[in-house]
Amino acid sequence: MQSATLIETKAKAMTGQEHINLVDRYAAHNYHPLPVVVARAEGVWVEDADGKRYMDMLAAYSAVNFGHGSKELIAAAKAQLDKVTLTSRAFQNDQLGPWCKELAELCGMEAVLPMNTGAEGVETAIKTARKWAYKKKGVLEGKARIICCENNFHGRTTTIVSFSTDPNCREGFGPFTPGFEVIPYGDIDALRKAIDDNAAAFLVEPIQGEAGIIIPPEGFLKQARQVCQEHDVLFIADEIQSGLGRTGKTFCVEHEGVRPDIFILGKALGGGIMPLSAIVSTRDILSVFKPGNHGSTFGGNPLACAIGRKVIEILKTGKYQKNAAELGAYLLGELRKIRTDRIKEIRGRGLWIGIEFKPEAGVARNYCEKLMQEGMLCKDTHEQTMRLAPPLCITRDELDWALERLRKVLA
Ligand code: PLP
Repeated sequence: MQSATLIETKAKAMTGQEHINLVDRYAAHNYHPLPVVVARAEGVWVEDADGKRYMDMLAAYSAVNFGHGSKELIAAAKAQLDKVTLTSRAFQNDQLGPWCKELAELCGMEAVLPMNTGAEGVETAIKTARKWAYKKKGVLEGKARIICCENNFHGRTTTIVSFSTDPNCREGFGPFTPGFEVIPYGDIDALRKAIDDNAAAFLVEPIQGEAGIIIPPEGFLKQARQVCQEHDVLFIADEIQSGLGRTGKTFCVEHEGVRPDIFILGKALGGGIMPLSAIVSTRDILSVFKPGNHGSTFGGNPLACAIGRKVIEILKTGKYQKNAAELGAYLLGELRKIRTDRIKEIRGRGLWIGIEFKPEAGVARNYCEKLMQEGMLCKDTHEQTMRLAPPLCITRDELDWALERLRKVLA
């Protein structure tokens, strides 16, 4: 029998709409979320505040690659919560060293610099490249240049939006940080032209996620890597979204057999539980830092590192990469069979797929809203593209369930 207090608590539970009203009233309006209020989640499924279930086809922009409420990850977090959560780097902690070693080994690298969010990881890579240019390459102080790509998305700090080509990310945030040059994505000749004696680094997403799952021409990453090597320019791969299993390999650059000078990792690195980012590189490159040059109070905290160690253990099994490769190919194949004149292009690698709608078919947000009615949560990007990026633990049956809804809404 339910106690009176339990019934009373239930009666008082806020509805989804009430939660939305609170956010509208008290939070800044810097997002335009779908009107669903997630209250619980497990695997690829989330449940809203009113008890309706949805399939999560975004996985928190790939931060939840290993699924909601992963038992192994939650257990690692809980065990560490009972020990110690934060020391700052003023002292050592017993999770940082093992995590750095395990992450460096996973990347085939030598050293790690930990941060928290993806944007901080990118900032760290930029600072590394500049300092490296002055200390190791002999570029005159203040002259280092970093080459980036059109339609990039690397985060939202003032320096990072300085080289964004999206007006929505930049407007009203100047003055901007100098020292960046933007070239067309995938254009190897433009990269060659942009390189001069002051070029410190080429910063690139192996697949441009926020731009709409844009895959560069085959061979571009490999060629770009070679060009960088020839001219003593650091090749920096921003694998914050493309890495850690999403595309069917641990790192997306592996599809072209490329090893960058610097990996930038984030999102799924913290298992969807803690913000954890890092740059991973050689000892020689990271030796440009001396105590006091750079850091973060939470960077390398024992809670995030303990979870991060479990993430690496999970990745080492290859299970999620395999599932992403196999089910991604299946999903892409099935989507391409859908007979419809609404779609301009379907692009994807692994479980990371962009569906671009023709302008006359209306904006992608409309399709996301329809899919939400059908019990699926997807996210649009840049007006015309809808992306599918479910947690990598998704099963074939769950994908078939999703495909049924997609066929209905897209046809
Ligand atoms: N780099 C890439 C490629 C991203 O996709 C993102 C976020 O979407 C970031 C950097 C920024 O990460 P964060 O939002 O954790 O700062």
